[in-house]
Amino acid sequence: MSNKQVAVFMGDDASPEVMAPTVALLRAMDLGIDFIEPLVGKAAKAQTGTLFPDEAKAQIDQADATFFGSTSGDSTPVLFYLRWGKQTFANVRPCTFVPGYNSPMANPQGIDFAIIRENLEDLYLGLEGDTRDLAGLNLYSRHARANLADLGPGKYAIKAITERGSERVIRYAFELARKRNKQRKVTVTCKYNMLAVADGLFLEMGKSIAKEYPDIAFDHYIIDDFLCRMITNPNALDVVVMPNLYGDIMSDGAAGLIGGLGLAPSGCYGDDYAYFESAHGTAPDIAGKNIINPTATVLSAAMLLDYLGKDSAGQSLRDGITKVYADPANHTVDQGGSASTSDFFAALEGVLA
Ligand code: ATP
Repeated sequence: MSNKQVAVFMGDDASPEVMAPTVALLRAMDLGIDFIEPLVGKAAKAQTGTLFPDEAKAQIDQADATFFGSTSGDSTPVLFYLRWGKQTFANVRPCTFVPGYNSPMANPQGIDFAIIRENLEDLYLGLEGDTRDLAGLNLYSRHARANLADLGPGKYAIKAITERGSERVIRYAFELARKRNKQRKVTVTCKYNMLAVADGLFLEMGKSIAKEYPDIAFDHYIIDDFLCRMITNPNALDVVVMPNLYGDIMSDGAAGLIGGLGLAPSGCYGDDYAYFESAHGTAPDIAGKNIINPTATVLSAAMLLDYLGKDSAGQSLRDGITKVYADPANHTVDQGGSASTSDFFAALEGVLA
């Protein structure tokens, strides 16, 4: 059987401090995976005149998946390609408590749900501009009871929810609820009272697809009500699906429930491609200090291994994380400990050996 190919981008700021050791760990596991590092960013610009050369794009296309370190600058075109170019519409962000995580909750045991953030549309289409440009459209606000042109100078951003975009991500949620086989429940959340048309469509798609999955329970909440429920009773959640911006915000909140951003992995799936990255950003404030928590990156790697059909290796990484957290000496600063990033990796290598 030929090796799987994974394109790797180390990312910016503190990202390489967790990406490089994670890739080294995966290489050492000898899983029949080739890790290729396409040349992008400043180095690519110096050699080829562009930040994201065609060759790098071709390497992503040829790979089975991409493992992506968070980016703050030069690799942003790569991220856009991984999203819109590869149509990775379902951004899955598991939120699972592991004993030892520094959760602020009194009773975090058993928290185990997944947020699916629609990854490509909503307010993230990049359709913004000056409200003057819309004046000719004579847009009447039913809430402000005025024409847009009469509200004075300002800017707009378009939120678009499409039938296709909603259908595919909600269907993905139902399939994931089956695959997880835990509570077998899907929750849809958005602001379908105030945004009765756009978010209303998302809810209606949810109700309609739910009928095709009689074995999966279905409920729905307005996003503010959902947030309160997520904090007061997170154990009632299984798979939750929502439009892009809500997913961005709620998933950081979900990470907070179990102990912070350093613990939150993600996988972004399309019909025929996927990329994996921590849900957190590049943590520029702690770059170079050897204190960034690798958990989110290692758990994203576990999701990558699952996707490549190497489920038992993925599970051994997750089991490794559980074992590492069992000893407080391995807890990093963000988890209330004093272990460095390198200490954490040494402990993980130890338990995996
Ligand atoms: P983005 O907008 O891309 O999400 P950001 O700069 O807003 O990026 P992060 O980079 O996620 O946000 O960082 C937010 C805070 O969380 C920072 O104080 C950062 O140091 C901290 N943080 C993020 N990831 C980790 C981690 N893995 N370990 C420890 N602290 C982290």
